[in-house]
Amino acid sequence: MRVSRRAVAVRVEGIVQGVGFRPFVYGLATRLGLGGLVGNDERGVFIEVEGGSARIEEFLAALTGDPPPLAVIERISTGPAPVTGRSTFVIVPSTARGDRRALVSPDVATCDACLRDLTDPAGRRRGYAFTNCTCCGPRFTIVRDVPYDRANTTMAGFRMCPDCAREYHDPADRRFHAQPVCCSACGPSLRFVGPGDPEEDPLERAVRLLREGGVLAVKGLGGYHLAAPAADEAAVAALRSRKHREDKPFAVMAGDLAAARRLCAIDPAEERLLTSPARPVVLLRRLPDAAVAPSVAPGNRWLGVLLPYTPLHHLLLRSLAQPTVLTSGNVSDEPIAYRDEDALERLAGIADAFLTHDRPIHIRTDDSVVRVFRGRDLPIRRSRGYVPHPLPLARAAPRPVLACGAELKHTFCLVKDDRAIVSHHIGDLENYETLRSFIEGVEHFRRLFDVVPEVIAHDLHPEYLSTKWALDQDADLVGVQHHHAHIASCLADNGAAGPVAGVAFDGLGYGADGTLWGGEFLVADLAGFERAGHLAPVPMPGGATAIRQPWRMAAAYLDLAYDGDVPEDLDVVRRNAGRWAAVVALARRGGNAPLTSSMGRLFDAVAAVAGVRDTITYEGQAAVEFEQLADPEVDDAYPCDLVDEGPGFAVPGAELVRAAADDLRAGVPREVVAARFHNAVAGIVAAGCARIREATGLTTVALSGGVFQNLLLLGRAVPLLEERGFTVLTHHRVPPNDGGVSLGQAAVAAARDAG
Ligand code: ZN
Ligand code: ZN
Ligand code: FE
Repeated sequence: MRVSRRAVAVRVEGIVQGVGFRPFVYGLATRLGLGGLVGNDERGVFIEVEGGSARIEEFLAALTGDPPPLAVIERISTGPAPVTGRSTFVIVPSTARGDRRALVSPDVATCDACLRDLTDPAGRRRGYAFTNCTCCGPRFTIVRDVPYDRANTTMAGFRMCPDCAREYHDPADRRFHAQPVCCSACGPSLRFVGPGDPEEDPLERAVRLLREGGVLAVKGLGGYHLAAPAADEAAVAALRSRKHREDKPFAVMAGDLAAARRLCAIDPAEERLLTSPARPVVLLRRLPDAAVAPSVAPGNRWLGVLLPYTPLHHLLLRSLAQPTVLTSGNVSDEPIAYRDEDALERLAGIADAFLTHDRPIHIRTDDSVVRVFRGRDLPIRRSRGYVPHPLPLARAAPRPVLACGAELKHTFCLVKDDRAIVSHHIGDLENYETLRSFIEGVEHFRRLFDVVPEVIAHDLHPEYLSTKWALDQDADLVGVQHHHAHIASCLADNGAAGPVAGVAFDGLGYGADGTLWGGEFLVADLAGFERAGHLAPVPMPGGATAIRQPWRMAAAYLDLAYDGDVPEDLDVVRRNAGRWAAVVALARRGGNAPLTSSMGRLFDAVAAVAGVRDTITYEGQAAVEFEQLADPEVDDAYPCDLVDEGPGFAVPGAELVRAAADDLRAGVPREVVAARFHNAVAGIVAAGCARIREATGLTTVALSGGVFQNLLLLGRAVPLLEERGFTVLTHHRVPPNDGGVSLGQAAVAAARDAG
């Protein structure tokens, strides 16, 4: 019987370079006895296979059914190829021309095979801190340019030794074309900068310093970290005071999953996330008897935990044999240090010593932070391990878009066709250094992804540095209202286009009417929105000062709630008696007391009334602590009826403040007050959406804005909406906070450009 012979050309697009795709194809084709070729080009991977029909079908099925773990196939197309009688399969050299559609992979945590290399007594990489392969290692943080080749990475300066070169060129090897491949003979090496014997092994010196309670600066993938033993209160307290970080929790690196389980309760979804190739910091419920110093996360029931993601971390944690605080290497709000000279200078006053190395970091990239909500990811910060993985848009953009993001937790976003690439976390765009990171980041992304933006989207806030920069650019500008961007971000996150009932609750954003919004009910799709309802505006006495001093919001709200006659026996009044009258007068008079409908400020007010805190040291602190205070067993809620207002409605937030204050005066425990307030806000979300459904028939709700990082609120609001028959969209790929705003802006600009 004659076997019919044919040949097929295959094109694979997505994340298919630097992830072991060609060796996979080579192995598959060779196993099936097919001839042909595979290669990389600017669009991804191209393949030609030739042989029996059945074998070719088998090949195509395995290609999509069982690709390498890190590959993300976005598109596969097949077509005919000439039958030339090829019987062997070859890997052909990369080409570099045309458009640069091949995608750069995010950084990937050390794989199991490389971990085994680290401990293999007979292997070449035993104890070598920079071991990596096609399946793992640095990517985004070391790429200077495309195509993704060693010469275009920060590994360019390291010449491969013959052994590494053999692995690199062997299609059957795990390190075939692994651009950062190296070993102790040819690759980067560790250096210890600090007191002690310079002849001694750097890693051993570092471990001893930590054991003795020192603070160590460690160079990681995307920047420097500061480390201190997590159980050592003196060391952690020293780190806190030297870093000028008063209360904001530190993350802890545990050596492995078992060590993490001794600190926190971990469910299967959290375990999956902790051990995923992205290795984010996962916010977990701390165990009551966890051996963690009080200063790690003061007064916090949650603990940010991450597992080692580089060989250096594995070696360090293995020798140390105890969890260590691992926090960004910076002073309070500055960006994380990532250049060596700069780090040595800036961190000199914080770290007792440095564990560093000579592989440069090209792009500063912070650790990502994720929570789990109902078994799915809820990103808080999307950066290392996720960026620059593209997010698909429901509709392709007619022209390339750059979205400039917001101000705090800044990211930007580039769109080409139906792909949105959200940048790494830039930080709070409030100073020259972060502004420079933003501008350089845009340049870098434009090169990497070969995008020349023709449309630039920006926030409406005239004072944001990102807005000012956008207005200077030579492109078509699209101003996007902040809360519309939040809702569009949630839509894009879910591959949806709307229209929906959008609930955008956050700290502050510039409203379409020039006032400060933040407790918004919108009827929105990607292109536009209408404001259907909002929290009733209240004055913010002292403007931005009221953000740092939640008791001022309590004063403004209580003055409204009690109609000017605030009971003097309230603790918050007593604690702030000296300045109370002046702040109330400021609130009444106006002037430096802009009106806001912000839900974040309402949380601040009630938190202050409940005695959580009068002043904060980091953004959202009062709300974070208020969430933790609440007793999850309490189911009842403060009543709050929506008030008709023209075509829409207003939410009388002062009624909630009054109910909370009355409860406290009657001796109701703060934990109960906190719970009743959270339940009331969930009820308001459901009531507002029901109003929108009556008017519009919309049955899908999108929840966005920083307030929805609150798991207690989400956990109450989502079931309530679902009970009432709504479909609820929440965030899974970008944060609900301002870190997700750039994606929303981009989706809006693309939709408007499409007409
Ligand atoms: Zn590996
Ligand atoms: Zn080598
Ligand atoms: Fe916001």
